[in-house]
Amino acid sequence: MRIILLGPPGSGKGTQAQLLVQRYGIVQLSTGEMLRAAVAAGTPVGLKAKEIMASGGLVPDDVVVGIISDRIEQPDAKHGFILDGFPRTVPQAEALDELLKHKHMKLDAVIELRVNESALLSRVETRVAQMRERGEEVRLDDTPEVLTKRLASYRSQTEPLIHYYSERRKLSTIDGMMAIDEVTRAIHRQLLALGAVEPKTHGKTRARSAAKAAPAKKAAKRAKAARKPAKAAQKAAKPAKSAKKTVKGAKKAAKKAAKKAAKKVAKKTAKKAVKKSAKKAAKKVTKKRAKR
Ligand code: AMP
Repeated sequence: MRIILLGPPGSGKGTQAQLLVQRYGIVQLSTGEMLRAAVAAGTPVGLKAKEIMASGGLVPDDVVVGIISDRIEQPDAKHGFILDGFPRTVPQAEALDELLKHKHMKLDAVIELRVNESALLSRVETRVAQMRERGEEVRLDDTPEVLTKRLASYRSQTEPLIHYYSERRKLSTIDGMMAIDEVTRAIHRQLLALGAVEPKTHGKTRARSAAKAAPAKKAAKRAKAARKPAKAAQKAAKPAKSAKKTVKGAKKAAKKAAKKAAKKVAKKTAKKAVKKSAKKAAKKVTKKRAKR
């Protein structure tokens, strides 16, 4: 299963992505997390992104597209992934479409978490307080000033994706103002309705792409086995065909021979008849002469 979570900062994308990961056993691919890791490690990408991220702007499209392209090829992403924070612009969405097409991968759904903007600031404040409580380093861009800028870039550059995916019949909108577990349930119901996940069996819900692999393999095996007797029957039918051919040939040959024989007889009879009539004619002539 491959899904995109879409929503402004503070809409709960990260929280829901983690819950979905636990539920379906797929990986969360967060470009924000990857970029923060690159900044912390001081990689060339990190150096490029550091200032932009701190100011609430967007990192260039080619940088994030490159990161995602490499990441979705990793073995742990084989059974599916949740894209969190990517794509964020229309060119990124177009690049993703191309990437998935090239890799023969299908996108199951784009889930938009819709929230009231007025609630976002208090949500981000709660996130900051919780991170401090856990002793985690607080994000540099989680301040009211930077949040305002991040919201502005969401509105101008990311919101057009709602139209982009709705036009392509991929968009599902969920009320992100509900309690966390209610949002998770609503997403699950939506994924079930889309056929992206299997209904609960033996207490575990599975992403469809992984769960379907086994029955598909079995079906392929069965089809192969079914083809075998058909092949054998074809082989068995071959001698029968050739026998039929032989009989046909023999009949033709017999007909030909009979025709030839009949012709010979007719020729002989004709010859005899000619001889007889010649003899008769000769006799007649002799008799006439004798009379004279
Ligand atoms: P996030 O953790 O998703 O809120 O992302 C944090 C920051 O990383 C954003 O404010 C951007 O500066 C940068 N970022 C993350 N994902 C992208 C993306 N897809 N395109 C451009 N910039 C991104």
